[in-house]
Amino acid sequence: MNKDCYIVEDLLPLYNEGLLQEETTKWVEAHLKSCENCRDLASLSNEPLDKEPINSSIDNEKMMKKINFKIAFYQIIFVAISFIFAIKTSLLNESFGFILSYTVLGLITYLFYRRIYLVITIAFIPNFIWSIVDSLSNEATVFHAIVGSAFLAFVHLIFAIIGCVIGLLVLKIREKGETT
Ligand SMILES: [Zn+2]
Repeated sequence: MNKDCYIVEDLLPLYNEGLLQEETTKWVEAHLKSCENCRDLASLSNEPLDKEPINSSIDNEKMMKKINFKIAFYQIIFVAISFIFAIKTSLLNESFGFILSYTVLGLITYLFYRRIYLVITIAFIPNFIWSIVDSLSNEATVFHAIVGSAFLAFVHLIFAIIGCVIGLLVLKIREKGETT
């Protein structure tokens, strides 16, 4: 046994769990190829645990990546939808369709993310920005544009929060149904 063998011996448990850095793994594998002693040791220590923990940790990583990708994807869709809502309701000023659409938006966003601040962001900011742009292009003063837009965004926000509360109730009811 030389010095490398002692190091490999120490690293084997981590190696078997797949916890070593890529470079270290390569180094251990290179040593195992050239050293029968350590190879025997590795096959012994590897047998009871098998390769399952390695595989499952890789699967978990893959799954997390997939989930993260999905969340990012839905986030983009939510932002896009909320901007479309904002533009539509500002263009159709007399329409009260936004009451329904923002309640639904709040409900869906809350059920999906379970975060009220996201509902607030999605309902308030697009309307606020869009309304300011719209008012300024209609030659309103900056002050009026900001106050008017804040009011408009706030009205939308109220309905989104109503949707949020509905979502909260839905979750509570479902929770109760599961525990009883
Ligand atoms: Zn060795």
